Amino acid sequence: MELLSNVPTGPIEQAWDKHKFELKLINPANKRKYNIIVVGSGLAGGAAAASLGELGYNVQCFCFQDSPRRAHSIAAQGGINAAKNYHNDGDSVYRLFYDTVKGGDFRARESNVYRLAQVSVNIIDQCVAQGVPFAREYGGLLDNRSFGGAQVSRTFYARGQTGQQLLLGAYQALERQIGAGTVKMYPRAEMLDLIVVDGKASGIVTRDLLNGKIDVHMADAVILATGGYGNVFYLSTNAKGCNVTASWRAHKRGALFANPCFTQIHPTCIPVSGDYQSKLTLMSESLRNDGRVWVPKKAGDKRPPNQITEEERDYFLERRYPSFGNLVPRDIASRAIKQVCDEGRGVGETGLGVYLDFADAIKRLGIQKIAERYGNLFEMYERITGENPYEVPMRIYPASHYTMGGLWVDYNLMSTIPGLFVLGEANFSDHGANRLGASALMQGLADGYFIIPYTIGNYLAAAKPAKASADAREAKEAVANVSNITKKLLNGTGKRTVDSFHRELGKIVWDYCGMARNEAGLKKALSLIPSLREEFWKNVRVLGSNEEFNQSLEKAGRVADFFELAELMCIDALDRDESCGGHFREEYQTPEGEARRDDEHFSYVAAWEYKGQGQPPALSKEPLTFNYVHPSQRSYK
Ligand SMILES: Cc1cc2nc3c(=O)[nH]c(=O)nc-3n(C[C@H](O)[C@H](O)[C@H](O)COP(=O)(O)OP(=O)(O)OC[C@H]3O[C@@H](n4cnc5c(N)ncnc54)[C@H](O)[C@@H]3O)c2cc1C
Repeated sequence: MELLSNVPTGPIEQAWDKHKFELKLINPANKRKYNIIVVGSGLAGGAAAASLGELGYNVQCFCFQDSPRRAHSIAAQGGINAAKNYHNDGDSVYRLFYDTVKGGDFRARESNVYRLAQVSVNIIDQCVAQGVPFAREYGGLLDNRSFGGAQVSRTFYARGQTGQQLLLGAYQALERQIGAGTVKMYPRAEMLDLIVVDGKASGIVTRDLLNGKIDVHMADAVILATGGYGNVFYLSTNAKGCNVTASWRAHKRGALFANPCFTQIHPTCIPVSGDYQSKLTLMSESLRNDGRVWVPKKAGDKRPPNQITEEERDYFLERRYPSFGNLVPRDIASRAIKQVCDEGRGVGETGLGVYLDFADAIKRLGIQKIAERYGNLFEMYERITGENPYEVPMRIYPASHYTMGGLWVDYNLMSTIPGLFVLGEANFSDHGANRLGASALMQGLADGYFIIPYTIGNYLAAAKPAKASADAREAKEAVANVSNITKKLLNGTGKRTVDSFHRELGKIVWDYCGMARNEAGLKKALSLIPSLREEFWKNVRVLGSNEEFNQSLEKAGRVADFFELAELMCIDALDRDESCGGHFREEYQTPEGEARRDDEHFSYVAAWEYKGQGQPPALSKEPLTFNYVHPSQRSYK
């Protein structure tokens, strides 16, 4: 399939303005004639629904939680990037653009990234106007801290609760529109299929999670802002409900899935402590502003940290990457942590951990200052581990955290199905093969507040979609599809729980398509996943009925989709015979163990097309060109 990215021509600095000028407009009085469905009410969906409501469109917004406020975005901790340069430390739109393209290991579209850096400054103004209580410094300006992959401080934050404060801002804007009647909110409604009529996205099928009722909602355009798929690994820092179902079912209706193997393993998470753990907890990257990462120099050294002298410690990130030190990007830090643990120098009972030590920072700044910056994170750590990080170093280990892959979108954020737009973590757009810390919130809000309000109008004005009827054959077929899946899941008389399958699948994906991948492992995963999936359909036991609040049924549908996605991730990882960003193929590394790209053969976005049950997916490639930031071996030394 030919992928038309619709990237504007001309100088990149003027591309977005030029594009906005060229986009078709809809007269204010006509906007209310258009219905737009927004699936998702996290930062991306909440911002989009509020903005489109404010513009005068008729919006229907859906989420599976009981309130938009519970979207996973609420969990974001460390901060949001913007090129405001309040610190006069050399930041600029161009530098944020440069850092992001380089941080993504030259696998993102330059024009999208430039636009993201440009609108980043508007986001902060918008959020401040909404009352988001960003941290301030003594002089009254908003404060900034540093995140990985940058040598400037450009991260705005609200202690360790930035996502919560930003989401409350977006939620208030959304509630205002709900009050004004421009947005109708459907909580506890899970989208289970996309309705495509005459090749255009025309509606969705939802299941009411409280009573099992299946509904059809038709619209002139559909927006998916349904988050990432990090829970395919079972253990991850994502909220337990995060899933791929909306994107996956749209994929099966024709939306291409881009770079599914580009997943982010975050270096600083609380290590796994037992077989029956179902969730991992992030310790924000912001902690690496003041925490120093180290392990003992000697393998097998099991002494408590306070008995290991300075000379006996290896501050391996500072040693290997003197320029960026502890603030190297996540893919680099995660790999370095894995390496020292593989050498037998990991700490804690399992040996899968390294120290994140605040002793120096506490000495330099005092406990009070550290508590002001990270108090809630320290408290969370202590509650989970029983150890006081003001006194003993934290132990951390990498875990699944974010997914750069997602549905393919063009510059207008439209997927390969006309009328289906994808925002936030659910799309593949801006982060290439590795996302820099604090850039997800930036992207979600950029998409929702500042991009989709322009581009969706252009689609509606140009395509003039004729409203399809809920009685359309395609709508009935989608409803039948959803009912069949539900029935099939409930009719099983097997013996295993959904969770047991999810745990086993997650381990396969982690072992063979996680922090490190190789050809043999990926092939093994590709033989294990289909047989486990087959067993799932034969032997899963979903208790309860459809007509009640049934979380085991919800989970079963999501895990069924994770099985199919996992296979595509491995196919994509196997096909990409290079290493880049978080995609580390062990066969392709530099002598120092860094990712070795192959720009000659792999400088493209891999977009996969669903070809039917049991059929291999078809690959389309969107070539990437770099006119501004020229691809080079990433160096953070
Ligand atoms: C612990 C943690 C901390 C983080 N901290 C930071 C940080 O400091 N800075 C940063 O930039 N990024 C951070 N991130 C990443 C960031 O939080 C996410 O990428 C971002 O919040 C995703 O926003 P979103 O709007 O795309 O999706 P989400 O917030 O995940 O929202 C998804 C929405 O879609 C809805 N939905 C999903 N599927 C369906 C369906 N089938 N039917 C109906 N509704 C559906 C959900 O109900 C929800 O409303 C962090 C991530 C984690 C896990």
